Amino acid sequence: AKSAHSNEPCFYDSQMDDALKARRELIADLRTALEAEAFELHYQVQAAIPSGEISGYEALIRWRHPTQGLIPPSIFIPLAEKSGDIVPLSIWVIRQACFEAALWPNRHIISVNLSPVHLADPRLVETVRSALADSGLAPERLTLELTESAIIHDRRFALEQLRALKAMGIAIALDDFGVGYSSLDVLRSFPFDRIKLDASFVAEIEHDEQAVSILRSVAALGTTLNIPVLAEGVEQAAQLSIVSREGCSAVQGYLIGHPSRALADAEQVRQTMSL
Ligand code: C2E
Ligand code: CA
Ligand code: CA
Ligand code: CA
Repeated sequence: AKSAHSNEPCFYDSQMDDALKARRELIADLRTALEAEAFELHYQVQAAIPSGEISGYEALIRWRHPTQGLIPPSIFIPLAEKSGDIVPLSIWVIRQACFEAALWPNRHIISVNLSPVHLADPRLVETVRSALADSGLAPERLTLELTESAIIHDRRFALEQLRALKAMGIAIALDDFGVGYSSLDVLRSFPFDRIKLDASFVAEIEHDEQAVSILRSVAALGTTLNIPVLAEGVEQAAQLSIVSREGCSAVQGYLIGHPSRALADAEQVRQTMSL
């Protein structure tokens, strides 16, 4: 390809071509992957504070690529959102999560990440309704996790969708709280059942008093609004003790469990939580 500015070195262009080609190939692979059932859901445990009881699991998608190995969602979800493949992929995630969770021995909550693109799809409510009906999963056991970016585009339609989903009995969690730009307004205007405080706030709490103050304020906000706050990305016991002390209701993170095909051992989680 020719550079738009003829005096720029050409290798930038060929590098861009390569990246573009790799992207196109991955998108093509994505389409076959759905048919080949090359995706799988891994589950990461969440636990309540202070009981240490398992409160649910988050479903996190993985792609077993035939030549590239296990590809993380941060690579292919954004691609699928741009290529238009996210809706069929997301329908697969919702149905798979419902069918798998319906078979769990304990009736824990399953949280599923919902792409902003899928929230804008008018057929979403019907998709969720039929996933619940076909799998037999009780609506109370399903939570959809949404980031703020999902609701800033068409707020009225987003609100309509969330209300219809909630009317069905499922819960809605606000994901990655704190890293967006309209958090407080969004909390006031949308019917969230849970707040997930972004991991970036937890990462520094051992050495950053300001991060602790923010954590404390968000926990207090949750108490005031009567919305439980879950702290994401808890990796160390010291972080767990701070988020507990500051009033968070639940935790998720490598300390209590990595995403995995296997469900967590309740006794082990309880022990880790009591450290
Ligand atoms: P997220 O929803 O914020 O999910 C949490 C991410 O943090 C997951 O990464 C998880 O593996 C990772 N994580 C959990 N505990 C820890 C910890 O203690 N330390 C650190 N450093 N990381 C931790 P993952 O699985 O790579 O997913 C990345 C993002 O991809 C998710 O962020 C979510 O936005 C998106 N995603 C994952 N699965 C799906 C899906 O099925 N549908 C959609 N639309 N998006 C998905
Ligand atoms: Ca999430
Ligand atoms: Ca998150
Ligand atoms: Ca995230």
